[in-house]
Formats: sequence, structure tokens, C-alpha cells
Amino acid sequence: MKKRSGKKGHGEGRACWECGTSPMTITTGNHRYMLADDWGATLEGVEYSRCEKCGTGGVTIDRPLPLQRAIAAAVVRKPTRLAAQEVKFLRVHLDMQAKELASILGVRKEAMSRWENGKEKIGTVPDRLLRTVVLLADGGEDQFDPRQLAAIVEGDGPMRLTVRMRDGHWEARPAGKAA
Ligand SMILES: [Zn+2]
Repeated sequence: MKKRSGKKGHGEGRACWECGTSPMTITTGNHRYMLADDWGATLEGVEYSRCEKCGTGGVTIDRPLPLQRAIAAAVVRKPTRLAAQEVKFLRVHLDMQAKELASILGVRKEAMSRWENGKEKIGTVPDRLLRTVVLLADGGEDQFDPRQLAAIVEGDGPMRLTVRMRDGHWEARPAGKAA
């Protein structure tokens, strides 16, 4: 195999997964990536493949697990209280059922559901504990200053996140903030 520099190859696009036509037309642009319920992040510069023959199309996400981790890392650093969608996203990211995570956080399963459907705000203590559990699970605790937990203030709504691939790593940051 020849080594290639640059962002992507040319003339070797994948075949259509519906009709087999090859190659599909690839365009690069921004894509809304849904995270939980109506909440999503903007993925910048992702590839969209479209089959000119049958119209099938879709986005290819490189390395979806690192992508989820990058988003989770941004969410646990959020300066305001976790919103309903973020609680749900983090639970799913941890690959846990509500019952399991509730028992870790020391609350009843019903409390988890109320936080996730927005009927009740997550308490300050379970908010901090949930972030800590995610940091431990993802191994990012060494780059996290625990003092950030003391600085969390009230807020409303989930983060507006922009995510992009940079030097082979997904990078998530609050929308509108420079990298
Ligand atoms: Zn096709």
C-alpha cells in the first residue's frame, strides 16, 4: 500500500450499500448529529456519500466511539448544571440502564426518569457524581481539575456543541468558541 498524505483519497469512493453503484459522490460539509431526544451537535467537515443512481445517501462517521467520548468530555466540563438531554446522553454513553445508574448515584430509578424527561432538574450532588463517573469510565480524570465541580452554576438547556476531526482526533467545543 502506498502511503498517502492529505485528507482523503480520490477515485476510490465506496460503493452504494443499496444498489452497488460505485463510486458514490462524496461531499464534505456540516452535519447535525443527534445525541439525545432533540439535542444534537454540529459535526464539521464530515463526508456525505450520495448515490447518483438510486439516491441513497448518508454520513460516514469515522470512529464513533471516540466521537462520543469527545462529546462526553465536553459535557462533563460544562460550567452549568446538566440538562435533561445531557443526563440521558451520559447515561447511554456509559451504556447503563436507568436502574443501574440510579443505584450508582444513590437515587431511585424514578428520579433518573424525571431528570431525563425534564420534569425535575438533576440535583447538584448527583450532577457532580454523574460527571465523575463518566470521567472515571472514560479515563479522562487526569486532565480534569475537580475544582471545576465547585464552580458549576445554574443554567438552562443543553450545550450547543461543535465537533470536528483534528489531527485524527475528535474535538468537541461549545459552539461559537474558538478552538
Ligand atoms: Zn445506489
